[in-house]
Amino acid sequence: MKNWIQQEYENIQSSPLKRNLIKIDKNTTETTINGKKKVLAASNNYLGLATDIRVIQKAKEAIEQYGTGSGGSRLTTGNLPIHGKLEHELAQFKGEDACLLFSSGFLANMGVISSLSDHETIIFSDALNHASIIDACRLSKAKIVIYKHNDMEDLKTKLTQYQTHKKKIIVTDGVFSMDGDLAPLDKLSFLKKKYDALLIVDDAHATGVIGEKGRGSANYFHVDVDVTVGTLSKALGSEGGFVCANKKTIEFLVQKARPFIFQTALAPASVAAALMGLHIIQTEPERQKRLLELGMFIRKSLTKMGYHVPDGITPIIPIIIGDAKEAVDFQQKLDENDIFIPAIRPPTVPDNTSRLRCTLMATHTDEHIDTIIYAFKRLNPPSKGSGNFHF
Ligand SMILES: *Cc1c(COP(=O)(O)O)cnc(C)c1O
Repeated sequence: MKNWIQQEYENIQSSPLKRNLIKIDKNTTETTINGKKKVLAASNNYLGLATDIRVIQKAKEAIEQYGTGSGGSRLTTGNLPIHGKLEHELAQFKGEDACLLFSSGFLANMGVISSLSDHETIIFSDALNHASIIDACRLSKAKIVIYKHNDMEDLKTKLTQYQTHKKKIIVTDGVFSMDGDLAPLDKLSFLKKKYDALLIVDDAHATGVIGEKGRGSANYFHVDVDVTVGTLSKALGSEGGFVCANKKTIEFLVQKARPFIFQTALAPASVAAALMGLHIIQTEPERQKRLLELGMFIRKSLTKMGYHVPDGITPIIPIIIGDAKEAVDFQQKLDENDIFIPAIRPPTVPDNTSRLRCTLMATHTDEHIDTIIYAFKRLNPPSKGSGNFHF
């Protein structure tokens, strides 16, 4: 007799949507994947800081000074001086009063969204928000209203519908992780004021990438948002999450956010690495500049070849294929050309919008970019119109 786990696993195994773990040496532009050398165009290590020698050195020093683990939650014995130092510097960087660290960006969303909402709250959430926002909304006791992706008319209609409600929250990714487009924070900021809602922006892919010196999406649009969630795990080259907001909100989170209260404080090495990453982001803006330039170049080149690449400015470049199997086949062909760009399929993205998700790094050389471009040139765009995705 098969139990239900075996039965359900067999269904997954025969599905084109089955996920597989790959073996990767490290997140450098040239790396080894499943034993073969590849050019990597798929990492969130956007500025190359996760493997930067100065960042590594700071992490080592922190281990020597503080040990490998922080030994307790922030509210018990885990609150080391470098936690406060990183929070102070992140708040300054984001132009906010205060900041609070979490063990990951995922948990930062969990902590913030569940703490700031109750059964009287309505959360308006973009249809393409990150899984951690979706799960955080589910965990909260709020009513959840999903608006069409970046559709301000739809959001406005929905806000009007609940106009008399006292507690309203709008939550959005700043840069959408699978589409690489920006949330229109100028319009969102207008609507949130008009309808007296709180605006939470998840800047995981924006921090270090867009805005002046990588300050993120609110800086890019020159607007203020109420709460910014971020991660240390992408451009900052470390691991962990954070929340920036006014002092009162952060103090409130210290009292209320369960992933903050009940979790061991971030490891000293991660904090020290993020501090150095943050320093490099601010003192070497040429990294951000190169990253964005490479992104624009690849976008333009692929579009010219006839690939379906939505407009955008970020280094996250979706190449829309449509059918899941066709996307996997295309990944395979790139793989044969020694390039790793993964196919992203449902449920990560909506049905019929399977895609290759190319991300660039500031450390890609011109030769790497040529290799990528020539491979796409050799492989023709898959049959047009297989997907029904409209931009
Ligand atoms: C990666 C990501 C997260 C999660 O951050 P981690 O630090 O990896 O847990 C949250 N939100 C968005 C939009 C992300 O892309």
